[in-house]
Amino acid sequence: MKLTDSVQFLKGVGPKSVENFQKLGIFTVQDLLLYFPFRYEDFASRSVFELLDGEKATLIGKVVTPANVQYYGFKRNRLSFKIKQDEAVIAVSFFNQPYLADKVEVGKEIAVYGKWEQAKQQLLGMKVVAQVDDGLEPVYHLTAGMKQSSLVKAIQQVFDAGVLTELTENLPQFLLQKYRLMGRQEAVRAMHFPADMQAHKQALRRVKFEELFMFQLKLQALKNKEKSGRAGLAIAFETQEIEDKIFELPFELTGAQRRALNEILQDMKSSYHMNRLLQGDVGSGKTVVASLAMYAACLANFQAAIMVPTEILARQHYANLKALFPELSVSLLVSGLKTSERREILADLASGRTHMVVGTHALIQEGVDFYNLGLVITDEQHRFGVNQRKVLREKGQNPDVLMMTATPIPRTLAITAFGDMDVSIIDELPKGRQPITTRWVKHEQFAEVLKWIKSEVDHGAQVYFVSPLIEESEALDLKNAEALFTELQEYFGMFAQVGLLHGKMKNDEKDHIMQDFKAKKLDILVSTTVIEVGVDVPNATIMVIMDADRFGLSQLHQLRGRVGRGTKKSYTILVANPKSDSGKQRMKIMTETQNGFILAEEDLKMRGSGEIFGVRQSGLPEFVAADLVNDYNILEVARKEAVALFKEAEHYPELIAQVSVEGGFD
Ligand code: ADP
Ligand code: MG
Repeated sequence: MKLTDSVQFLKGVGPKSVENFQKLGIFTVQDLLLYFPFRYEDFASRSVFELLDGEKATLIGKVVTPANVQYYGFKRNRLSFKIKQDEAVIAVSFFNQPYLADKVEVGKEIAVYGKWEQAKQQLLGMKVVAQVDDGLEPVYHLTAGMKQSSLVKAIQQVFDAGVLTELTENLPQFLLQKYRLMGRQEAVRAMHFPADMQAHKQALRRVKFEELFMFQLKLQALKNKEKSGRAGLAIAFETQEIEDKIFELPFELTGAQRRALNEILQDMKSSYHMNRLLQGDVGSGKTVVASLAMYAACLANFQAAIMVPTEILARQHYANLKALFPELSVSLLVSGLKTSERREILADLASGRTHMVVGTHALIQEGVDFYNLGLVITDEQHRFGVNQRKVLREKGQNPDVLMMTATPIPRTLAITAFGDMDVSIIDELPKGRQPITTRWVKHEQFAEVLKWIKSEVDHGAQVYFVSPLIEESEALDLKNAEALFTELQEYFGMFAQVGLLHGKMKNDEKDHIMQDFKAKKLDILVSTTVIEVGVDVPNATIMVIMDADRFGLSQLHQLRGRVGRGTKKSYTILVANPKSDSGKQRMKIMTETQNGFILAEEDLKMRGSGEIFGVRQSGLPEFVAADLVNDYNILEVARKEAVALFKEAEHYPELIAQVSVEGGFD
């Protein structure tokens, strides 16, 4: 037998099994060896004195009474006997497995796995464990129609044939020594048939490290390929012209904005192809940095495009860019334009008459062609899928790429999903910002909240109310928003102007409402979550989120980020009567921290990495053994070692060959 042999040559593996194996990604003997169990049934024997009520465990004892089978009802029966473990006599019962009586011999040892019932001092038997000294039994993921036992038999066969010795070590020796990692062969054996829990732990540690290390090495290879393989555009602009523009801004850039901008401009100027993530908490001022980068591209006679997830945001950016660059031609491309309007915009993009364009998904549709696209930016990048970002990029000849995210990416993900990108971080808020006070109130206290808001509005405050989110039902969302709107209109009467904003409104209606709110013609804006990302009205200082427990932490943080954008004191009120513990916990965390980074980490812990930040979409592979949340320490070490090793890649040709990739993660 060889490692490269197909599994179809194994005994007991017929065509049907081969098909099942293939579904699990098992084609060769080596694949089978590396198909690890995801957990183990612990059949190691325990002492009856340490068992808790309801706990499942194996007890070994000497049989002291013969097996007695009692029949009752139709086909129902109970097998009972007693065993003695040290000084304890324990009753054992099995239901509807009368044939087990053969295994019960007075005076002989028996190992029974079952559930301990404290009150009855009885073990409710589930199975008689065959190998008394083999404590851990592997449990594998299967596909329909497969049995654990047949998989185990196939694996056992492979071990018996001795091919494991052919499996070569893939980690460098110095790493094995430095981190006291188990050798590969030993680890593979211990993954399938661990002698005990300790051996299993050691094996798992090695396997996790290997998985994360290889992944990080692959990221290094990708990053390297980006840098050397694809020459980017050298965008030639006059730095002084950018400085002049910065001078015109109504505020001074923060140090962090300066730093990020310089990093971006440097990438753009060089022929290195920029692939950069601009990360900064809500309100940190990413827009102006992006705008200046777009300006640089235009100064060098390239076009620049920015794609945003919502139309409201697109309109806001559009207005900003037009105000900031009156000398340039800026276009807005969203869906639902009149045919003639759209035709004109597309013509201007294709002819190069348009310098800058802001758009939603409408930007990546067919028929949208550019004259010479030099820079593409995606704002709130996690809202877009891998392919959407790619399509936009491909509208140009390898343009520089900048992705922006207001959702802070937890360190775990930052070094995995985005490990092949360069990162700029804005870790400083503009001067004069005050911390936002966040309160969690119950629905019973809502009347009090309204009273307080009335007096705040009286003093010139502007307020957002976000209506409850009904998952996957836009119709209900709308109904909720309308009901809240009516309620507030009635409550405030002559005292405040209330507006309503929702996703189903026509473009110009949305625009109108936002303009009115910005111009302070409205005091209160009731909205569905369409305002979640990006919206910027610095004078709004109160955010009320109804049924806040229906939102995830990151979304709450985004919503809260709509206030606290000016120099006035701001508040967020979470109205919620959460039923679940996690709901309560989320409300509590929100009142305790305003640090988006901490919140994102908490969110990751509570929800798992798969769901968050469109990780799936970012192309992050599913890990077999490693877990991004719990194995952060291993990940960090793997990352460090991979970076170091890649610098001496020429000494590790085999290893590098394994990770050199055709495609990428993005
Ligand atoms: P985000 O990073 O969440 O996209 P924005 O770019 O929308 O944040 O900026 C938030 C607000 O802060 C805007 O009103 C913007 O004009 C303002 N702002 C940006 N930079 C500065 C600065 N350096 N000083 C003062 N205000 C700033
Ligand atoms: Mg923004």
